Amino acid sequence: MSPASVRQLRGRSLAQGFGRGAAIYLQHREMEVTRISIGADGVAAELERLRRAIEETQKDVAKTRSRIGELFGEEIAGIFEAHRLILEDSAFSGAVETAIREQAVNAEWAVHQVSRDLSERFAQIEDETLRERGQDLRDVTRYLLRRLVGGEHQDVSDIDGDLIVLADELTPEETLRLGRQDVVGFVVEKGGRNSHSAIVARALSVPMIAGVRGLEDLDLRRAEALVDGAAGTLVLHPSAEHVEEFEARAAARAELDRSQAELAHEVGKTSDGVRVELHANVEVAEEMADVRRFGAEGVGLYRSEFLYIERSPEVPTEEEHLAVLAELLKASAGPVVVRTFDLGGRKVAQEMLQVEERNPSLGQRGIRLTLARRETFRAQLRAIYRAAALGDLRVLLPMVGSIEDVVSFRRFAEEVCTDLASEGLTHRADCALGAMIEVPSAALMANELARHVDFLAIGTNDLVQYTLAVDRSNETVADYYQPLHPAVLRLLRAVSEAGAQAGVPVSLCGEIASSPEWSELLVGLGLTNWSMSPRSIPQVKLRLRQIDSASARALADRCLACESSLEVEKLLRR
Ligand code: PEP
Ligand code: MG
Repeated sequence: MSPASVRQLRGRSLAQGFGRGAAIYLQHREMEVTRISIGADGVAAELERLRRAIEETQKDVAKTRSRIGELFGEEIAGIFEAHRLILEDSAFSGAVETAIREQAVNAEWAVHQVSRDLSERFAQIEDETLRERGQDLRDVTRYLLRRLVGGEHQDVSDIDGDLIVLADELTPEETLRLGRQDVVGFVVEKGGRNSHSAIVARALSVPMIAGVRGLEDLDLRRAEALVDGAAGTLVLHPSAEHVEEFEARAAARAELDRSQAELAHEVGKTSDGVRVELHANVEVAEEMADVRRFGAEGVGLYRSEFLYIERSPEVPTEEEHLAVLAELLKASAGPVVVRTFDLGGRKVAQEMLQVEERNPSLGQRGIRLTLARRETFRAQLRAIYRAAALGDLRVLLPMVGSIEDVVSFRRFAEEVCTDLASEGLTHRADCALGAMIEVPSAALMANELARHVDFLAIGTNDLVQYTLAVDRSNETVADYYQPLHPAVLRLLRAVSEAGAQAGVPVSLCGEIASSPEWSELLVGLGLTNWSMSPRSIPQVKLRLRQIDSASARALADRCLACESSLEVEKLLRR
């Protein structure tokens, strides 16, 4: 076999950092299924593994069924009946067994193949109701694969050494799970900088690049790979010179991180002394070490939905929520802003809550889902108000579109606190309540909203998406996703002014807060409380020291008068 030649590919940077390891391609988006030849002697063991996985999946389904039954009643729990039947159906398991025997392949591959063939047959059925049963089959396949993949082999954690994962696309769940294993780099074809997968990669400090085409067809034979997240490059089968140069850049970056961490004890302020509070966005508790290391003044945004992602398909219990919140409070130097569940229509919400959406971003997301599924989210609220008695915990509502959202939530929270009081549980009912400003209607009504909440938090990731009607995770419209669009800047100014007039603090926790290029404009817009990935705090502090607030205000005025993002960009560069 001839040695594979060096390949260099370029993508866009989604998460900085350097990763060196063996490249693997994730066969499909939901679960890593790889075809492995097991040989004739491996067949018996593989059949046994399949049998155990089916048994465990049957137990999972029964457990989920009874939990859903408790929460939503028998009728909805009946959805799981079809899953039980498929798992018991000998035609299904028989076909998988045959594939294992005849092709001497691993169980995952056999399940994947049989399910794909059956799904295709389902798709051709004319009767719509029957055709839709194909979804049950896909669900069961996913559950079964999860059991198999989580079993003794086939998981990336069973491949020795550091790995670079190549994939068409990764969900936030996959990014979280893989990033916690030995994965040191991600390369995807599709993915936006503001997608939750990219946010997770940054949270875990695993480099990620997107927009690299043709990954599936690459020659990955024993491929060593180098990923430079900042430069957005992937090098496969690197030469000794590539490796040497890569190691030198990685060492220089580590040195820069070390020297910047020394700024941790200094506060954020401009050259003329305007104080800018710098807090951290946190997705998973292990980030708290970075929060302290880089000197965040508090947790400005805890994306609590990641706890649901971690526990999926189970719903986290009240005690689990409480334990995580207590840990964050203990580790944080200042307040902890916990955002209530903010997912909808996506995989976790689909599996856990049986929510199917045609247009997830515009569907039952964030506060809408919390209000629609109160029984499910009661545990989270109870934990939040209990944790509020332990420290400075503040509650933040995502996807607020109107004042009614806040009013309804307050009623729900009151009900929860009344229950806690009657059970004699220590809690705090009057902790601060804030609304995220990420929907244009909320930005335009910020004056009125400010009368109903204790603080406002601008989420520019979504505000840009909803103002410009551009899917934040869709690679093909990435050029239209323009945080510097004058329409967005006008909303930012309006919210900043509304907060100042009402005497209600306004923070900003979208990804733009992490970019030093934005710092002057934000100061100029009167926004001086930012929350960002902890690692970005030092570079933003450094940038702030070069900014004069009067010039920043003048710059903001000029930017607001621009006609396009391009014009704004030119002004900022100047
Ligand atoms: C935002 O929308 O800017 C935000 C901070 O929330 P998320 O990125 O989790 O949607
Ligand atoms: Mg958001």
